[in-house]
Amino acid sequence: MREVKADIVIVGSGAGGGTVANELAPLCADGIRIIVFEQGPRLRDDELTGREVEMAQRLYFESGGMLTHDRSMTLAWARAYGGSTTVYTGTSMVVPGHVIEAWNVPGLRWDDVRERSKKYLEENNVHLLEERLINENNRLFVKGCTALGYRVRQFPVNVEGCRGLGLCNLGCPNGAKRGTHRVQLPAAERQGVEVVTNATVSSVTKRRCLVTVAHREIGEPSSWEPGEYRVTARVVVVAGNAVNSPVLLFRSGFGEYLPALGRGITLHPALILAAEHDHPLTNFFGFPKSYFTDEFREDGRFLLETCMYYPFTTAKNLNGFGAEHSSFMKGFRSMQQILVLALDDPADTNRVEVGRHGEPVVRYRLGRNVLDSLHASMKTAARIFFAAGARRVHVPAGTTFTIGTADAGRLDDLVPRSNVRPGGMSISSAHLMGGCRMGADEKTSVTDAWGQVHGIPWLFVADSSLFPRCSEVNPYVTVMALADRVAQRVRERFKELAS
Ligand SMILES: Cc1cc2nc3c(=O)[nH]c(=O)nc-3n(C[C@H](O)[C@H](O)[C@H](O)COP(=O)(O)OP(=O)(O)OC[C@H]3O[C@@H](n4cnc5c(N)ncnc54)[C@H](O)[C@@H]3O)c2cc1C
Ligand code: SF4
Repeated sequence: MREVKADIVIVGSGAGGGTVANELAPLCADGIRIIVFEQGPRLRDDELTGREVEMAQRLYFESGGMLTHDRSMTLAWARAYGGSTTVYTGTSMVVPGHVIEAWNVPGLRWDDVRERSKKYLEENNVHLLEERLINENNRLFVKGCTALGYRVRQFPVNVEGCRGLGLCNLGCPNGAKRGTHRVQLPAAERQGVEVVTNATVSSVTKRRCLVTVAHREIGEPSSWEPGEYRVTARVVVVAGNAVNSPVLLFRSGFGEYLPALGRGITLHPALILAAEHDHPLTNFFGFPKSYFTDEFREDGRFLLETCMYYPFTTAKNLNGFGAEHSSFMKGFRSMQQILVLALDDPADTNRVEVGRHGEPVVRYRLGRNVLDSLHASMKTAARIFFAAGARRVHVPAGTTFTIGTADAGRLDDLVPRSNVRPGGMSISSAHLMGGCRMGADEKTSVTDAWGQVHGIPWLFVADSSLFPRCSEVNPYVTVMALADRVAQRVRERFKELAS
């Protein structure tokens, strides 16, 4: 076991960890040693091949298919230099005021979160995409929503030099997405922050981090030799995401002091819906996710977004097998897709735990409200497809594999609520939230409004696990805004914490 001394250790290099690293980086000029440990590799540009299965294996934890304990949902997050910002689509939303109000965290005000969010919109080059990158898949969504009178909005996105390849969720091969791997981490490293990749932190007890550096066949070699390290730090900032951060704190023995640890996770459970048009669409070119409607945010509790997934992911998400599945997939070039996201509330049944071998276990029961939202959202998405001119629609809870235009008026009969049940459809989540939620009460929260773990002044959390409830919008900008607050608090308290 090698011994290393640091001043600040950051665990994880995603939206939260990358932000904290860059915000604290100016301290390096005063001789403060800051180390970021990242479990995943730092991929070389030529390793971002855009090949679906290969990139899923290289970038995602369990290839993006980690199952919840009851096996009713898969969870996707990346394990890489830059965390999930390497695979996110880059839609960049400021959390609405009513969400922060509902979070009800004393000391956390929406105007503060909004101002910090704006800083990251600028830093990440967020803007509305130009016309030439809006493809037919996206235009049809606008056409369908408009025909039905639904409010539809364009997503601001954080790209620079986007070439419209649509491979964003496989790690952009053009380096166009402005994730932490392109913006905050390189800037932090230029100022002296060390980022050690292939490095897993297994515990953070008493300011001592146990770290294992592994050898990997892919990516740049880690800057540290493979082996075991004990790293002593004055401040530890945990930013592993909403699953890994609670698990790390459990493994470090904090579960007995923090009754809310792991509790209150929300996931924005999601389904992919697909429809076939009678002509090939330009869904292979253009930015894949340009529009959404929040028309049903209050009444229905769901969002609908454009999306275009790759053949393997699409095939996996269709509910069925055999000839009809094959025939539908053969129409891939004529396919329109919509992603539905249910806005879930925290529940006692939903939490992160640690397994016997230290591995994450996510218990999440799809409650009645979420199933109601998914049911309503599937029928609404089907109506949008038909209004956009689709000739048949695949609704995962449909009584038949596809529903044709002749039956477009019978959606209530052909998509019964009784067909919407856990395990009956391919439900996934890429928006993991909660598990170390902020709050004032030590019994119901894990950290204060500045990410400091209750009762442990040297320990902070700075990632999506801080969310007390779901964000109701795509979450990464809010993760960065909260991480920015954590960095400010660490800076303000560093002298006191270091003594
Ligand atoms: C496919 C996909 C598409 C998405 N699209 C969007 C989008 O368009 N807009 C949006 O707002 N959000 C999007 N998101 C969500 C967004 O990416 C996340 O909300 C955000 O990245 C979460 O930030 P984080 O810091 O909590 O975790 P992450 O960004 O996931 O980073 C956590 C990092 O910590 C590392 N780590 C964990 N534990 C340890 C440990 N013990 N030791 C060392 N390292 C560790 C992990 O390997 C990982 O790299 C998407 C997510 C996915 C998966
Ligand atoms: S659409 Fe743009 S951001 Fe997405 S992979 Fe292609 S070039 Fe990269």
